[in-house]
Amino acid sequence: MSVSGLCTVCESESAEYTCGRCGSLVCEVHYDPTVGFCVECAGEIGNSRPGDTDQPDDGDTYRF
Ligand SMILES: [Zn+2]
Ligand SMILES: [Zn+2]
Repeated sequence: MSVSGLCTVCESESAEYTCGRCGSLVCEVHYDPTVGFCVECAGEIGNSRPGDTDQPDDGDTYRF
């Protein structure tokens, strides 16, 4: 098997996939087939990162 390149994320595994967003070559571990992007792009387009949202959900019940 010829090695076309190394994963741009871990730089240790052979890149077998190409990110459909940034075009980076990534290995199987760092490729998200559900979106067709690398894990970095998949994380950016995914749900908001923890701490990024500011929901006033403290779980406490207020009463008058
Ligand atoms: Zn990798
Ligand atoms: Zn990407």
